[in-house]
Amino acid sequence: MRVEDLIVYGKSKVHSEHAKMLLAALLNVNSLELLNYLDKEVPEDVEKAFKEKIAELVKNRPIQYVIGNVSFYGEEFLVNESTLIPRFETEELVENTLAYLDEFFEHKNLNVVDLGTGTGCIGLTLKKLIPSLTMTLVDISDNALEMARKNQEEKGLDVSIIKSNFLEEVPGTFDIIVSNPPYIKEGEEIEEIVKENEPSIALYGGPDGLDSYRTILHQCKEKLNPKFMIAFEIGCNQREAITQLIYQELGDVRVICKKDLSNRDRMIFIFSK
Ligand code: GLN
Repeated sequence: MRVEDLIVYGKSKVHSEHAKMLLAALLNVNSLELLNYLDKEVPEDVEKAFKEKIAELVKNRPIQYVIGNVSFYGEEFLVNESTLIPRFETEELVENTLAYLDEFFEHKNLNVVDLGTGTGCIGLTLKKLIPSLTMTLVDISDNALEMARKNQEEKGLDVSIIKSNFLEEVPGTFDIIVSNPPYIKEGEEIEEIVKENEPSIALYGGPDGLDSYRTILHQCKEKLNPKFMIAFEIGCNQREAITQLIYQELGDVRVICKKDLSNRDRMIFIFSK
């Protein structure tokens, strides 16, 4: 079949953007380039793979898992069912972390830890953009760490990768902690496609969704340098509860909450005074 015929086939079964993304990925071109090849005959093995993967999409498997990678902050990250699919909101966390880092610290030889790294998208992006950072990626899941390791190798970045329940087994002290931890409340209604496919360990943060923050804020007291910054992604209705936890655990600090592009509370930044 020709490219155009396969797009028509795909569109009859799934969202047309997904059909195009998938075919483009299998042909190793981007979605725009694909349109230059509408008349081209597609090799039989690619046609077969395309149809199999369309069937996976029909069964509600996320396109990112079907393709096996996702674009994050302009870079491709490998992704599979052992990790959360990096989200647009998390790109905003990276963007704001970069801005505050610039503003708050006088130099960039900083010790940074990314807690619950998953694919490694946050820590690896920061390390790529600021090579002078000493970066540690932490996750409790062996499978997630394998994915973070693959992304690290693919990008050739020099980072440490540690298995630990947040900071529990991480040696050293840090200038910056960054984390997009699991923050969904147990039992909260979430999209079917998320619930059925993404790892629950990466999604749920206990009965009130705040367990990860409680743990990190408790553990971090012995792990922070005197001048420090913490950057958290948060659930959109967690600002007050987390702010309270922060003052309880860390005392006299400066807290800034930021909204995401959909105007929902999405990030909290904590600075030492
Ligand atoms: N740090 C990864 C991300 O932001 C994984 C987060 C998680 O598993 N909760 O995509």
